[in-house]
Formats: sequence, structure tokens, C-alpha cells
Amino acid sequence: MPLNLSLNLATVRMQWKLPQAVEAAARHGFAGVAPWREMVQETGIAQTARICLDSGLRVTGYCRGGLFGADGRENLKAAIDDNKRMIDEAAAIAAECIVVIGGGLPPGSRDLPAARAMFVEGLAAVLPHARDCGVMLALEPMHPMYAADRGCITTLREMLDIADTLGNDGLGIAVDTYHVWWDPELRVQIDRAGKRIVAHHICDWLVPTKHMLTDRGMMGDGVIDFPAIRRMVEAAGYSGIQEVEIFSDYWWGRPGDEVLATAVERFKTVCT
Ligand code: ZN
Repeated sequence: MPLNLSLNLATVRMQWKLPQAVEAAARHGFAGVAPWREMVQETGIAQTARICLDSGLRVTGYCRGGLFGADGRENLKAAIDDNKRMIDEAAAIAAECIVVIGGGLPPGSRDLPAARAMFVEGLAAVLPHARDCGVMLALEPMHPMYAADRGCITTLREMLDIADTLGNDGLGIAVDTYHVWWDPELRVQIDRAGKRIVAHHICDWLVPTKHMLTDRGMMGDGVIDFPAIRRMVEAAGYSGIQEVEIFSDYWWGRPGDEVLATAVERFKTVCT
């Protein structure tokens, strides 16, 4: 019985390049992988598609798109074009979705509402292409500590409002425990998301957190109640695969096989 667990390849990006990481994921019993664009481009699109196909693993996500307003309005068109190329790449590697994040403020800007508006504008501009290609865009709200530099859309409520505005077709929701665990509306908004949930990412919140980006925790090492969130997600109608995604200087410093063995063990003992 394969684990209902996918490996986001960022988790082992310091240890392995894409071919070795996919091979290791299969060896440890993962059912899928989620590659990042830099790793895919380094390996090549066709070669990545071949490696994933031959591995028998699902490609549960392609990271990551969106960020439409991050370089300012003068670069919005370029960001839209780049996202369209990414949609083509996702189709080529048979990724089940692209993870889409808000993007931060443009350099020098203090206008968060404008950044949010550009995200919606960019998303609306690429959505027809995503629909044509059959590529799902998984909207991922990010923890508010990233609002300035990575993710100006910070709550499930905001992402669901945007999806409602744009008509939902072709849009899904990524529930990443690291980003949403603190939200007082978590249960209500997961319930509202319902069948729109297409991805469930897992990663723990460490206390204290020593670095905003690279001190994420292995499940069980922090304060997130994984079974409680999983029950909410399942009650909403998503019983699909979970994806472990850990940016961590600590885990990047450990042998890759130790990281994967630990993730599998914690998934079995902490997350269900
Ligand atoms: Zn995520």
C-alpha cells in the first residue's frame, strides 16, 4: 500500500537534484512528488516528464506560480507571460496543479491593496490559458509574516473570495498547515472551500521560529494539530494525498534518506 503522501522536492533540494530526489521518494514509498521550477529547468522539461513517468509517482504540484504584482505594474505583463509558460510546463510534466501564491509588494511600495489587486488581475489574465491546458491553479494563502515579500494574500477567506469572483472553474485551494494553522476562521473557511481543496501541504510551526523562511518544522516538532486539520479537510470533502514541504536549514543539513525516513515515520504517527 503506497503512502498517501507526496514529497515536495524543496524538502531535499540541498541534498539532491531532481532525478535523485524522485528516485529517493519512490524508494521511501512516497506516492508522489512536487518539483520546483528551478529543479525542473535544471533537469529539462522533457527529461523531468520522463523521470516522473518512469518513477510511477504522481506529480502532485508544480511550484510555484502567481506573484503577479511583485515586480510592479510595469512588469505585470511579463509576470502574466511567465505564468502562461509555467502552465505549459505543468501540462508537459503532467502536474496535477500549479501552486499559486500572492507575491509580495513591489520594490519601494507600501501599497498592499494595490499588490492584492494586481494578483487578481494577473490571475484573471492567465486563467483562460490554464483552463485550455487543463491545468488546475491551486491558490495558496501564505502566513501573514510573508505579506511584504512573498504572499500578499494571507487567508483562505481572501483566496476563496478571489476564486468566487473569477468563477472558480480551473481554480482550487491549497491548504498548507504552515500558512493557515493560526487562522481563527480555519474550520469555517476549509468547510467553505469544500471540493475546491486540491492540495494539502504539511509542515510544522516551530517555537521559537528562528528564521522566517528556513526554519520550518518536521511534523511533530512544533505546535500544529495535524489530525485536527486533516479532519477538517476530510470533512470538507478532500481525502486525497498530503504533501510534505519543509524549508529547513536543519533538515537540509541532514542526509536525504534520514529526512525522508523521518517524514514517513512522522506522517504515520503524527498526521493521522
Ligand atoms: Zn505549500
